[in-house]
Amino acid sequence: MTTERCDVLIVGGGPAGSSCARVLQQAGLDVLVLDKSGFPRDKVCAGWITPPVLDELEIDRADYARERVLQPITGFRLGLIGAVPLDTDYARIVSYGIRRCEFDHYLLQRAGARLSLGEALHSIERRAGGWLINQRIEAALLIGAGGHFCPVARHLGADVGRGELSVTAREIEFRMSDAQQRRCNVAPHRPELYFCADLKGYGWVFHKGAYLNIGLGREDPQRLAEHSTAFLDWLKTTERIPDDSPAVLHGHAYLLYGHSQRKLIDDGVLLIGDAAGLAYAQSGEGIRPAIESGLLAAATVLAAKGDYSSAGLAGYRDNLRKRFGAPGDTRPQPIATTVRHYLGKRLLRKRWFTRHVVLDRWFLHSRQPLIATAGAMTSAPAHQGLQSLMR
Ligand SMILES: Cc1cc2nc3c(=O)[nH]c(=O)nc-3n(C[C@H](O)[C@H](O)[C@H](O)COP(=O)(O)OP(=O)(O)OC[C@H]3O[C@@H](n4cnc5c(N)ncnc54)[C@H](O)[C@@H]3O)c2cc1C
Repeated sequence: MTTERCDVLIVGGGPAGSSCARVLQQAGLDVLVLDKSGFPRDKVCAGWITPPVLDELEIDRADYARERVLQPITGFRLGLIGAVPLDTDYARIVSYGIRRCEFDHYLLQRAGARLSLGEALHSIERRAGGWLINQRIEAALLIGAGGHFCPVARHLGADVGRGELSVTAREIEFRMSDAQQRRCNVAPHRPELYFCADLKGYGWVFHKGAYLNIGLGREDPQRLAEHSTAFLDWLKTTERIPDDSPAVLHGHAYLLYGHSQRKLIDDGVLLIGDAAGLAYAQSGEGIRPAIESGLLAAATVLAAKGDYSSAGLAGYRDNLRKRFGAPGDTRPQPIATTVRHYLGKRLLRKRWFTRHVVLDRWFLHSRQPLIATAGAMTSAPAHQGLQSLMR
């Protein structure tokens, strides 16, 4: 078997892996991205992103939208499942709807790294000064970007899928026929979010271009199928969605920041994105934390100048904390059922609460500044990259 060599092997070509790969490749490192899927590939996801995602990745909106869905969102309809919702309009673009099969493919192609697609990681061996992966790829540095079930996270000791408190969600995305589009009452510029009565999860409906994405996620996995089926039925009987919308949803799990005990760094290796358990606790948004962790990891790698010991990579963990807070800070406080019930019934009917707390703070993170763009990083000398990124 011929051996392939690279400076950095990134396992996983999702938003975390491709964002990291692009910066490292542009800075002159030889990067190889390994992914078990061929691209374009689907990813179970609502496909909602906020403008900072596009800005931090320097995505030209017009260029992206030429051949792909980029649905501008200017407001939200929000409420409790079964109750009358409230509309919030911003009169400006506050989010976008994308399709993950298109978005992830675009980012991975644009990264400019070498790709080995359709190849799962099946073996990891530590060698002097690096790694031997799949008995054929030698790399000085290994980056785990393989999502929630990332094999590199397992290698670092994560009890993936067992000893962890993860969010589970189910979703379906389909192209509507012309007749279905006429019977869909969800406005493309105003997606709909509906909380479960116990506030332990929420359902969504996103109408993007000709596509409809419907799903529901919950903190506790018990009765997820029951909750999501009831949600779908309610959307149909209230004529929000066509009554012949598909009823088979696809499930996936992921960790919220603060719920994860995963080790993020060791000698010659680090984790980014869902592999590191970084999704925002209140909304479950994971794409922005995934790309930001990819950029922060890349900055750390460049600043390390070849010292990939855990001490050389420690800046990455520090910068995640600066960005997202100490993990303990974001752990949601247990809320008594009665309080949840009160919150659900009363607060979600108040306009100020839905707009300023639920949407502005929890979903849009409107106070969270951009981290510097990838371009700003690579144009600065490597040692300045990390500082400029965290400014
Ligand atoms: C139902 C649902 C809805 C969601 N909706 C949203 C949303 O609207 N907005 C948002 O911001 N976030 C959302 N999220 C979260 C978001 O999808 C993730 O946080 C995001 O995809 C993380 O990106 P990533 O690059 O870390 O991992 P991923 O996107 O999961 O990419 C990981 C890659 O690793 C590859 N891989 C896995 N195992 C191996 C292996 N053994 N060998 C090689 N390659 C491997 C996979 O093929 C995949 O391409 C949602 C999640 C779910 C479950």
